[in-house]
Amino acid sequence: QPVVAVVGRPNVGKSTLVNRIIGRRQAVVEDVPGVTRDRVPYDAQWNGRAFTVVDTGGWEPDAKDRAAAIAAQAETAVVTADVVLFVVDAMVGSTDVDEAAVKMLRRSAKPVILVANKADNNSIEMEATSLWSLGLGEPFPVSALHGRGSGDLLDAILAALPEAPTIVENRPRGPRRVALVGRPNVGKSSLLNRFSGEERAVVDSVAGTTVDPVDSLVDIGGQTWQLVDTAGLRKRVGKASGTEYYASLRTAGAIEAAEVAVVLLDASEPISEQDQRILTMVTEAGRALVIAFNKWDLVDADRRYYLDKEIDRELRRIPWAIRLNLSAMTGRAVDKLAPALNKALASWETRVPTAHLNQWLTALVQATPHPVRGGRAPRILFATQAGVAPPRFVLFTTGPLDAGYQRFVERKLREEFGYEGSPIEISVRPRK
Ligand code: GDP
Repeated sequence: QPVVAVVGRPNVGKSTLVNRIIGRRQAVVEDVPGVTRDRVPYDAQWNGRAFTVVDTGGWEPDAKDRAAAIAAQAETAVVTADVVLFVVDAMVGSTDVDEAAVKMLRRSAKPVILVANKADNNSIEMEATSLWSLGLGEPFPVSALHGRGSGDLLDAILAALPEAPTIVENRPRGPRRVALVGRPNVGKSSLLNRFSGEERAVVDSVAGTTVDPVDSLVDIGGQTWQLVDTAGLRKRVGKASGTEYYASLRTAGAIEAAEVAVVLLDASEPISEQDQRILTMVTEAGRALVIAFNKWDLVDADRRYYLDKEIDRELRRIPWAIRLNLSAMTGRAVDKLAPALNKALASWETRVPTAHLNQWLTALVQATPHPVRGGRAPRILFATQAGVAPPRFVLFTTGPLDAGYQRFVERKLREEFGYEGSPIEISVRPRK
C-alpha cells in the first residue's frame, strides 16, 4: 500500500489535515510546541484507492537549529514515503524553515504536493498563489479544519501515487472530430468510400467563396466519427473553389475544425512540398496527427524497407506522428486507422500530475544540467502542465534556455511520457 507522508513546521495543521484525509475525528493532537508525537500510520481511502498516511508530528522545539531539525524530520519521512505532502501555513506564507525543508525535499526526487493550509476563505486562497515561489509547483489551498479544497488535494494525491502515473482527461462523450486531408489524387475519396456514413446537412458551395465545412458521421472501425468537411471530399470541387488557393484554405479549415487529422500521402510518389505544407498546418494548429501512406499496394516489396528509411528522413521533424501504410484500393491496414486515431487522441489529452512531472524533471536536470554559458547556467526550477489538447508545459527557470537544451528536454519528455501522435508545446518562463 502506498505511503503518503505529511511534513511541515509545527502549528501548520498537519494533524488536522491527517484527520481530514482519514475522514474521522480521532487522535486530534494539537501541534503544541513541546508535545512530541510519534510517527503514526493511518489507513485512508479516496475514490476506491487505499493508501497509508503518516503524520510526522515528531518535533523537537528545543533543537538548536530549527532548520536542521525540520530537515531531519522531513528526511526520515521522505525515505519511507511514495508521496510527500508538504504543509505550509497560508496565513503566514513561506518561512526560512520552510525553504530549508524544500531544498531537502527537492533533492529527494519524491513527488511533493505543496499544501497551503488554513486557506479558510478566498482572500487567503489568493495569497497562497505566492507559494509558487517555493519551487514545488502549484500550491493546493486547503482548509483542513473546514474541509475546503480537500477533495482537490485528495485527487492530486491519488494522481501522484505510484501505479497511476498518468491520467487522461475526462471529456463529454460524442463522436470525435477527424479531418481527412491530402493533396488531390492521393486517394481521399477512395478511402472515404471504405467507410459507411450518413450525410448530414449538405451545403452547396457558392462560386468564388469558401463554404462552411460540411461534416458527416462515418463508421471507422466500429466507432462513429465526425468527419469534417466531407463535402470537399465527396465531390470534385469545381471552379473557383478548385484552385490550389481555395483547396488549401479548405484544408486549413478542416484541420482547424478537427481534433485529429489524417494526412494522406501517396506512397508511390516522393513526399512533395505540398504534402509538407499540409503536415505543417496540422502541427501549427496543434492537432493530433496520423500520417497514412496510401497506395502501398503500388510499392514493390523489396523497396518497402528503403522507402521507410527515406520517409524517416523526410519526416524527421515530426518523428512522433503515427504512421500507417495502407491501401484504400485493396483494404490493406485500413482497420489500423481507428486504433491509430484513438491512440493519437489519448496522447493529445494526457495530463501528467505536477508532482510526477517534477519528480522526473528533477532527476533529468540532475543527470544532465544546462551547459554553462559565460560562467553561468540557467536552472529549471519546476514545470507545470498548463493544458491539454495538445499537452502544453511551462518551465519556470532562472534564465532563458539554449534552444538545444530545450529540444533535449522535449525529447526526454516524450521518451518518458509518450505522446505518440500528438504535438506538445513547451514554453519557458524565466524568473525576473
Ligand atoms: P482524392 O483526390 O484524394 O480524393 O483521390 P481519389 O480517391 O479520387 O483517388 C485518386 C486516384 O488514385 C484514383 O484513380 C484511385 O483509384 C487511385 N487510388 C486511390 N487509392 C488507391 C490505392 O490504395 N492503391 C492504388 N493503386 N490506387 C489508389
